[in-house]
Amino acid sequence: MAKQYETVIGLEVHVELSTATKIFCGCSTKFGGRPNTHTCPVCTGMPGSLPVLNKKVVEYALKLGLALNCQINQNCQFDRKNYFYPDNPQNYQISQLYLPICHDGYLEIAVSGEKKKVRIHEMHMEEDAGKLVHDEWEDSSLVDYNRSGVPLLEIVSEPDMRTADEVIAYLEKLRMLCRYLGVSDCKLQEGSMRADVNLSVREVGSQKLGTRTEMKNLNSFKAITHAIEGERERQIELLTEHREVVQETRRWDDNKESSYGMRSKEDAKDYRYFPDPDLQPVVISDAWLEELRDLQPEFQEEREKRFQKEYGLPEYDAGILTQSRHLADIFEDVARLSGHPKKTANWLMGEGLRILKEKGMEPEELSFTPEHLSDLILAVEHGEINHGNARLVFEQILEADVEPAAYMEEHGMKVITDDDALLTAVDEVLAENPKVVEEFHSGKEKVFGFLVGQVMKKMKGKADPGKVNEALRGRI
Ligand code: ADP
Ligand code: MG
Ligand code: ZN
Repeated sequence: MAKQYETVIGLEVHVELSTATKIFCGCSTKFGGRPNTHTCPVCTGMPGSLPVLNKKVVEYALKLGLALNCQINQNCQFDRKNYFYPDNPQNYQISQLYLPICHDGYLEIAVSGEKKKVRIHEMHMEEDAGKLVHDEWEDSSLVDYNRSGVPLLEIVSEPDMRTADEVIAYLEKLRMLCRYLGVSDCKLQEGSMRADVNLSVREVGSQKLGTRTEMKNLNSFKAITHAIEGERERQIELLTEHREVVQETRRWDDNKESSYGMRSKEDAKDYRYFPDPDLQPVVISDAWLEELRDLQPEFQEEREKRFQKEYGLPEYDAGILTQSRHLADIFEDVARLSGHPKKTANWLMGEGLRILKEKGMEPEELSFTPEHLSDLILAVEHGEINHGNARLVFEQILEADVEPAAYMEEHGMKVITDDDALLTAVDEVLAENPKVVEEFHSGKEKVFGFLVGQVMKKMKGKADPGKVNEALRGRI
């Protein structure tokens, strides 16, 4: 019988922090910008320049560390990781090896209802490198240091994951925590979240870890899933043929959907780490840590439960609305203003998420005045606008934050609630259709719908169907 293999995966995830300035200087962290405009002597590695630590970076690291149930090193320090590469102007990266700020935590994930804890080995602070821009026509390379010195957190898991689904669940959960905390926007495509996948295989039942490879350049969940499946197959094939898995770094090629060996894996000793003499040790007081603990937000699970209890939402709705803290905030504002939580949920989840998907936007990008959606919901409730038109107004609220009453007025969408106009229309329709009225009286209930239609037509669709029905019943 063929041997059964188990996949073993550990992740090293880099998250770019959304601080306004870089980790060791005052330069902007803004994405893009003309090459080398967000730079200074510090982040371009000029001799004689000295780094000064950005306190916000430590604050963000602590917030995420607490959310990941980590132990905190209240006395930590920075180390130099030495390597030569043109995107690394100092010839060393300031990172943490000996005393990382956080260690020994865990992240709980759920895959098809199964809960599982993935242990976090450590989390440390470091600086990002610049970017090389290869000019194929000129046969030359240019370097842009705008990204050099942008703060990063590296989160290193234990090799606790077994499937691609678990890896995706881990990354999604980590992304959600970062976004709830506001420490990073975690966009894989823009590189503000980057995952290196360490993978080995071993015979089912074996306790010993196999030799692993590390895959880089994975910038979508799809690429990660494919890379895991491909690498698992490749390693099993090697072992089946009694060949060896070489410990190396492999680069994923998204177009070819395959990976290739990039370099043999460096060890810590290759980097000749030593404590950075330009930076003082970081001392985190008990008081600051306590303060940050108190400031932790209500995270997704708690909020999901509260939404069910406080607003009577189904579990499904509460789960979806709380995937994004921003969407959940909008929901709460509108639900409170309108007094119609379920209707609010329906608008946001149905039309709202559909429109976002259509435009390729994230819930984080929604920015409209909560009163506007609340006013629209109340207008529908009071029969002042029909549902079809309300959908158009909703789209305009999402797009241009229009004020519904004014917009409805301007576009003639307001349902006429004036009873006189409605009764006149009803009487006219009855007078114009004596035959139909007769049929109705002789028991042909079906024709009633026709009469409703006629009245709606006279009212140019701006009447509330419920009211039309009522008026017709009263007069016929
Ligand atoms: P390095 O710092 O040299 O990259 P580490 O031992 O710190 O190596 O591990 C890096 C990552 O690789 C961690 O996420 C860890 O869980 C994972 N890892 C280590 N050994 C294995 C293995 N045999 N199989 C799968 N993942 C592994
Ligand atoms: Mg590593
Ligand atoms: Zn700078």
